[in-house]
Amino acid sequence: MTSSRWEINSSATLPIPCPKCGHKQSVLVSKLRQNPKLTCSSCTSEFVDDGAQLDALVKVFERLKRSSHSRELAAIT
Ligand SMILES: [Zn+2]
Repeated sequence: MTSSRWEINSSATLPIPCPKCGHKQSVLVSKLRQNPKLTCSSCTSEFVDDGAQLDALVKVFERLKRSSHSRELAAIT
């Protein structure tokens, strides 16, 4: 098995909490990258994700790239 490059699965979703009501909704990573502006499906307020969740995910991937723990990777994709 050859994997020269590790990438975040663009069909993966992140639970983004609404700053107003705290409702978490699953947002596609690919959508978050293109447009971090979200509308809460619970209270319909609009907010922009600060990217903290995505940053955290990217950091995990960077770490995995170095250590190549495929089992850990499978757990978060
Ligand atoms: Zn909300």
